[in-house]
Amino acid sequence: MNKFGFGISPGRQIDYDSNNREVARYIFENEPSFRLCIECGGCSATCSTGNFTGFSLREINILIKRGENDLVRNALKKCMLCGKCTLVCPRGVNTRNIVVLAKRAFQKSDEYAL
Ligand code: SF4
Ligand code: SF4
Repeated sequence: MNKFGFGISPGRQIDYDSNNREVARYIFENEPSFRLCIECGGCSATCSTGNFTGFSLREINILIKRGENDLVRNALKKCMLCGKCTLVCPRGVNTRNIVVLAKRAFQKSDEYAL
């Protein structure tokens, strides 16, 4: 078969039915301010970790809500829990607690298959 130098891109649709949204549910229950996030990126812009690595709390928030948890689990290890993101969030989202809860949710899912 001839190669034309391009191919079909993999699908980018979000499958909410198949994705595991238990981590998002756990955070919504324990930190309702998570619902106020408008994904503006203010937290990512001020994040010290984000300045030196590819870590982005805005991206983390989006991925958790989608239930695309695979990338989140490892990325969370980079957060130093300094709380700078919480100070700048224009929506008053308790971002630091979101990181803590997400880590706890992953820990629970390992223990109890959440
Ligand atoms: S600064 Fe607040 S509203 Fe903006 S992306 Fe971060 S958590 Fe969401
Ligand atoms: S608490 Fe974590 S995500 Fe927030 S600014 Fe500090 S290192 Fe970044």
